Amino acid sequence: MASPILVQTRDELLEALRALHAKGERLALVPTMGFLHEGHLSLIREGKKRADKVAVTIFVNPTQFGPNEDLDRYPRDLAGDLAKCGEAGAWLVYAPQSPREVYPEGFQTWVQVTELEMGLCGGKRPGHFKGVATVVAKLLGLFRPQLALFGQKDYQQLAVIRRMARDLDLGAWTEIVGMPTVRETDGLAMSSRNAYLSPEERQRALSLKAGLDAAAARYEAGERQAAALLAAARAEVERGADRIDYVELVDADSLRPVERVDGPVCLLVAAFVGKTRLIDNRVLGS
Ligand code: AMP
Repeated sequence: MASPILVQTRDELLEALRALHAKGERLALVPTMGFLHEGHLSLIREGKKRADKVAVTIFVNPTQFGPNEDLDRYPRDLAGDLAKCGEAGAWLVYAPQSPREVYPEGFQTWVQVTELEMGLCGGKRPGHFKGVATVVAKLLGLFRPQLALFGQKDYQQLAVIRRMARDLDLGAWTEIVGMPTVRETDGLAMSSRNAYLSPEERQRALSLKAGLDAAAARYEAGERQAAALLAAARAEVERGADRIDYVELVDADSLRPVERVDGPVCLLVAAFVGKTRLIDNRVLGS
């Protein structure tokens, strides 16, 4: 497969996009922070099926990291990512050469999805979704893609992005597509942050998925009380994780906590294994 075009400045990107839009080609956008794995590649491959061209962005967005988070040590491998993008059939990779390319001098406009970002990861990582929503709004405005693909692994992020696209009318031109979580063969949700795990931590990280499975088994057996489902999940997560950030059962659309499962709900887990914060989720009742 041909190597994708690499562009590192906004001006170069606009030149490439103008030519593409002039030809009337359908564009799919896959925003990422790089250090790509099969989860990211599944989005690129789906984009290829649904559009003429796929553009991938690789940008470790500083505004979505808190002061004590892993911005400086977030794993990076541009050469490896380009090769993977090529194999998956991407047309172009935009990897801004510095955050200044995205946030120039004087930048002062922010997007906040006020309710959806309040709980879960938004509650534990203040400002995180403000950074996410702002950068994705900018990317949708810049690329004007027919579709943009995101993973359900980041369930709250997908909900925030869908709401933002609807509320700001960016969704009038761009379909937001959510894609299933890609897992390692033993069930661990793929994540660039898995690279931080030691072999021993990697084993204990399976407790997140085990927690979701335990709750799902109780649900399949007829349990509908949130407290019982959450207790089943928590007991498994606690076996492997060093610290639980949250285990919550929420309405699948509003993300508000539920006491009983009466319709589609999502069970979400965030926990630390060693110093690494991992997340996973499972929709029940759909
Ligand atoms: P990230 O580079 O972690 O910001 O992720 C970029 C995109 O890939 C987001 O839409 C994620 O939800 C998606 N993604 C990350 N991990 C997975 C996975 N295991 N399966 C499917 N999509 C994923």
